[in-house]
Amino acid sequence: MRLPFFFIALLFAADSIAQPFMLPKLPYAYTAYAPNIDAQTMEIHLTKHHQAYVNNLNKAIKGTAFESLSLEEILLTLPANGADAIRNNAGGHYNHSLFWEILAPKSNQGPCGESLTEAIKASFSTVDSLKKVIFSAAMSRFGSGWAWLMLTPNGELRVVSSANQDNPIMNFSVERGIPILGIDVWEHAYYLNYQNRRADYLTAVWDLVNWSVVSQKYDAAKSNTNLRSRLNSTKKNKKKGQ
Ligand code: MN
Repeated sequence: MRLPFFFIALLFAADSIAQPFMLPKLPYAYTAYAPNIDAQTMEIHLTKHHQAYVNNLNKAIKGTAFESLSLEEILLTLPANGADAIRNNAGGHYNHSLFWEILAPKSNQGPCGESLTEAIKASFSTVDSLKKVIFSAAMSRFGSGWAWLMLTPNGELRVVSSANQDNPIMNFSVERGIPILGIDVWEHAYYLNYQNRRADYLTAVWDLVNWSVVSQKYDAAKSNTNLRSRLNSTKKNKKKGQ
């Protein structure tokens, strides 16, 4: 018996619905980030690299207990060993989604909010010294990874870096917190325009940071007591278990 066409079409539709994670849209045109980041890098970074993380994440969680979880919940519960495909691709999807949100062309950037300005002053004294700490974390990350500004469970700002697509939400990260700013230091983020000049890329991407979005993320992280206590309690449990 031949399957009616509509039934076959339904099978394909059901298959595409079964993939829960989707590539976000960039808030601005690929060309809007130039000259700091060229349009081709933006397009390849989003539509090839980030898309691959999304596709591979959907594939990796299919038929597992992670299939019904939110992205954040996956990061909070995935094991350190034996789930590399989920770890790399869930991290890749989370990290890039944050990265696109916090970047904006100069003309579209808003100012740093009052509470984040105060917190930066308390922890780093000036924005310029914060920049130095982040650059140092980004420069000293060997190979591929990320530099982060995060809110610790205790409510302090801290700069950390992570390898590959790991991030401070993951339950096995040594230093945990809620990332509010992330800088991608994979070569795919800058190689077309900057080749091996990571320092030049960092200077350029720093000028694209939209501090009003980072401030919103800071305020949201501060009031997210549920996530902060979960980040804290996992650490305590780990210590107890040692
Ligand atoms: Mn990337």
